Amino acid sequence: MSLFKKIINKEIPAHILYEDEEVFAFLDISQTTKGHTLIIPKVETKNFLETDSQLIGKMFKVTQQLAKKIEENLGATGFNVLTNMNEVAGQTVFHFHIHLIPRYDENDTLKIEFSSNELDLNEIKTMILKNQD
Ligand code: AMP
Repeated sequence: MSLFKKIINKEIPAHILYEDEEVFAFLDISQTTKGHTLIIPKVETKNFLETDSQLIGKMFKVTQQLAKKIEENLGATGFNVLTNMNEVAGQTVFHFHIHLIPRYDENDTLKIEFSSNELDLNEIKTMILKNQD
């Protein structure tokens, strides 16, 4: 059984922020920034691509509701909303989860940097869309 399934089953303690029949949310133990929250499905599913899209929609609705509460009650001024998919992207727990990471200022404790590459956008677009009906 996955770590997160044990949290859902209350076999491992967590600071639960939300729970319904399908979706569960709790504070990330690492608190990358204050209020860092994980939103997960109750069903055991490995990652973003393997999760039912309607369920992802429900998870994002909960993510938005919690973001509003964190903005209002913790004073966050922005958020990063992300999911790591597979080892190459830094996934360590293989039960799908959305990270909701509140931001307070540009010098807070999360650093995300997008590097820039000179690639042929036309070629990339053609490759992505090939075999499309
Ligand atoms: P990822 O690296 O995207 O798979 O994220 C897994 C997250 O789970 C990390 O941010 C961890 O800090 C978090 N985590 C691991 N164990 C626990 C736990 N017992 N309670 C809350 N969060 C946890």
